[in-house]
Amino acid sequence: MFELSQDHEDFRKVVRDFAQREVEPHVAQWDKDSYFPTELVPKMGDLGLFGLVVPEELGGSLDENDKDSGAFTSLCVAIEELGRVDQSIGITLSAGVGLGINPILSYGTEEQKQQWLPDLVAGRALAGFGLTEPDAGSDAGATRTKAERDGDEWVVNGAKAFITNSGTDITSVVTVTARTGTDDTGRPEISAIMIPSGTPGFTAEEPYHKLGWHISDTHGLSFDNVRVPASNLLGEQGNGFKQFLKTLDDGRIAISALALGLIERMLAESTAYASSRTAFGKPIAVNQGISFQLADLAVMAETSRVLTYKAAWLKDEHDAGRRSVAEVKKAAAIAKLYTSEAAVTATRIATQVFGGNGFMEEYPVARFYRDAKILEIGEGTSEVQRMVIARHLGLPS
Ligand SMILES: Cc1cc2nc3c(=O)[nH]c(=O)nc-3n(C[C@H](O)[C@H](O)[C@H](O)COP(=O)(O)OP(=O)(O)OC[C@H]3O[C@@H](n4cnc5c(N)ncnc54)[C@H](O)[C@@H]3O)c2cc1C
Repeated sequence: MFELSQDHEDFRKVVRDFAQREVEPHVAQWDKDSYFPTELVPKMGDLGLFGLVVPEELGGSLDENDKDSGAFTSLCVAIEELGRVDQSIGITLSAGVGLGINPILSYGTEEQKQQWLPDLVAGRALAGFGLTEPDAGSDAGATRTKAERDGDEWVVNGAKAFITNSGTDITSVVTVTARTGTDDTGRPEISAIMIPSGTPGFTAEEPYHKLGWHISDTHGLSFDNVRVPASNLLGEQGNGFKQFLKTLDDGRIAISALALGLIERMLAESTAYASSRTAFGKPIAVNQGISFQLADLAVMAETSRVLTYKAAWLKDEHDAGRRSVAEVKKAAAIAKLYTSEAAVTATRIATQVFGGNGFMEEYPVARFYRDAKILEIGEGTSEVQRMVIARHLGLPS
């Protein structure tokens, strides 16, 4: 697969135009103010961005009979294009679909889907997913948050850390993993439970002061005797951890698309700047010391594109029943690992090409420099991706 379909390329133009019109003019100010643009979310919904992988009867655009729709690839195109303009807006979509909508779509009952998805797809609401805790990140199985049954209710106590889209004005629900008992071998049983915003005892703490992703919404969450109906269990009791690992595979491909958008932007910015900036009487681009760096950026962009869309294609093929989950898992980890590390390198190169200007917030490379690092951490750190890849190499255990 060396190029995307014409439909995907046409869709790319639509998203690019939207990003130029609705995001680019405001983004520097939003970033400076750490402002989450709630008003943008329904516009993204109107464009259909939240509904690309959601069946038509739930408000999305997915025709479930069309095995070749390439719906997940479309989502990656949208994230890539938004990510070229701003990484926070890209992650708002990526997390909104991957962590908010997908778990409900994949594991929810018909009632849960009908209750939550139409608003999420329309961009009238956002949802988050809370796996990480203050003492359980990479080792997510160490979850301490507990949910105990009391009659027809779950009573939830504990805390989550760094949860995206969890405290906006339109956040309707956050799904969290919690210990609901122990399994036959005595290990903690982890389940997923949906906690609607506004439930007494559920608090989204003050937003974090982050290095980057200033426009993205991130909160710590606390649960103090939070009571929700027993029917708020998402999926099977005890399957919460397994469900989440599956959710992460898709999320990793989406992060890869986000990193790809960043790398392409760094290539474009650096090429333009190096062609117009003069030093010693000539454009700096004529120096091999600069043009070789631009060449390296072009290689990173091309490699990231191939890895991201190979993984997205495998995911679409898996959804059509033609590829195994193991293939998706490995490709997702490889794509995420390479593109996120390349993104950090790309912003370092771009900032260097810009010289002193690259350190100034007037130039977007400075914002992208701050935004890049989290790509190596969120949805599984680089070390975790290496663990996943190594597990697929048939090494002795
Ligand atoms: C802005 C932001 C948004 C986020 N959004 C969400 C969200 O929406 N939902 C959610 O659940 N989480 C979210 N996260 C959490 C994110 O997924 C975690 O931060 C990440 O998984 C790492 O966990 P940790 O921070 O606890 O680091 P730790 O697990 O404490 O890791 C610290 C370091 O040790 C390394 N390490 C750990 N174990 C090993 C090992 N066995 N071998 C080698 N190295 C190891 C890690 O790679 C890392 O470098 C978000 C984080 C941020 C910063």
